[in-house]
Amino acid sequence: MDIILFGPPGAGKGTQAKRLTESMKIPQISTGDMMRAERSQGTELGKKFDHYMSQGLLVPDALVLELFEKRLRQPDARNGAILDGYPRTVAQAKALDTLLELMGRRIDSVVSIEVSLAEMIDRVVLRRTCEGCGQIYHLRYNPPPSPDACGKCGGKLVQRADDTEEVVRTRYQEYLEKTAPILEHYKTKGVVKTVDGLGPLEEVETRIKASIVPPPPDSN
Ligand code: ADP
Ligand code: AMP
Repeated sequence: MDIILFGPPGAGKGTQAKRLTESMKIPQISTGDMMRAERSQGTELGKKFDHYMSQGLLVPDALVLELFEKRLRQPDARNGAILDGYPRTVAQAKALDTLLELMGRRIDSVVSIEVSLAEMIDRVVLRRTCEGCGQIYHLRYNPPPSPDACGKCGGKLVQRADDTEEVVRTRYQEYLEKTAPILEHYKTKGVVKTVDGLGPLEEVETRIKASIVPPPPDSN
């Protein structure tokens, strides 16, 4: 099953993708995480990514398409994936449709998580991420046991450089201009469901699961 978790920055895509991978037994693919990994290795590609990411701008499609395709072709994604932060432009969505078709697959569900701009900013400025395992925290809503260490692996918690109010506003503009039109593309295929992203993590997860058809097997 191939699912897109869709929404603006801070909607909760990464948080919910991690929860769903456990119950659905398919991996999360986050192009943002992949780009940050490349950047922290200091590769030439990573430097190119950083130029755009630090300003809150989308990385050009030409740099993203191959990176994503390589990841989707990994063996762990042979039964599907939960896409978090991809596709982000209509061109990426069309390339994804073509790639999945070649693999005999298609996007089964697009779950659009809705939150207000004020909520996005509030969430993103207090987001902390584990350098080791990628676990996502919020200092107020989903706090780690200690402000510096991950409760899951003990790794160091860091604040993303692009998680400032100013950069989030730019990221939201990019979302409105380039990413939101993707919804129309998938609405014509009848696979889009909208969920309210506000509320406890468990409740949002329940809403997302209910909107995925057929429902994923529950791990509980
Ligand atoms: P995205 O991947 O869409 O950018 P994240 O999953 O990283 O968003 O979540 C952004 C921030 O909001 C994180 O700090 C996370 O802990 C927090 N968060 C996620 N879901 C909720 C929720 N339902 N209520 C409150 N905070 C949340
Ligand atoms: P995210 O981790 O999803 O919040 O993404 C962080 C940043 O990485 C974005 O603001 C973009 O600069 C870049 N990025 C991540 N995924 C994509 C994508 N699919 N297309 C273009 N840029 C991306």
